[in-house]
Amino acid sequence: MTANLWQRFDEYADQIAVKRLNLLTQVAKQFLPAGYWEASLNKQFGTQTKPVHLTFDDGPHPETTPYLLELLEKENIKATFFLIGKQAEKHPELVSQIDKAGHKLGNHSYSHKFLPYLSNKKIEQEIDQASHCILEATGSAPLLFRPPYGLMDKRTAARLAERNLQPIYWSSAPEDWSLPGAERVIRRVCLDLRPGSLIVLHEGKNLAEQTLLAAKEIIYMCKTRNLQLTRVEPTCLTSEHR
Ligand SMILES: [Zn+2]
Repeated sequence: MTANLWQRFDEYADQIAVKRLNLLTQVAKQFLPAGYWEASLNKQFGTQTKPVHLTFDDGPHPETTPYLLELLEKENIKATFFLIGKQAEKHPELVSQIDKAGHKLGNHSYSHKFLPYLSNKKIEQEIDQASHCILEATGSAPLLFRPPYGLMDKRTAARLAERNLQPIYWSSAPEDWSLPGAERVIRRVCLDLRPGSLIVLHEGKNLAEQTLLAAKEIIYMCKTRNLQLTRVEPTCLTSEHR
């Protein structure tokens, strides 16, 4: 009985967490520079498709990337990885493996600093060094950018535009970084899972088991609901996202 009560408490807390995040996202959309907040439902996917993007931030990481790649290959799913430049520099072989497996790579800054606090010069370094690390490992520069902590200002937006990098935000962030456990991460994502969902999970040593379990179940839920997991494509961006 007590266990049931705790379970119900967790479920209720997760519902509140999702509502709070959705509200914050609505507010963020008003203040952050224009970008991509969800998978495009327009006709380029065909009228019957229900795209969902699964994205992984903060890698590559030896404790998560190889296992995620294995899972994605087994499930025949393409995902998008937003890489920290420093991590890419340490593990170029993982960057190359992600790329060769057909997943999309994005720039997540060089050292994951809070960009609004940085000078213009530092912002440029954060963007360019990360792109350089990905270019070195794969032979091509990324076209997608996700700001660390999901926040950036107009100065960063202007520099991304100069470099032909498109800002990618999210629609579903289950706050997995706070280690709530796989079950709660899955529930938070599934409470708001719909055509167009752009889900963000995180890589890293402490998150390895949780991220892998959550990714596995989210993929299963998408398949059960006939949602198509696809990569974020820069060409998907249209004026409706801005
Ligand atoms: Zn991050």
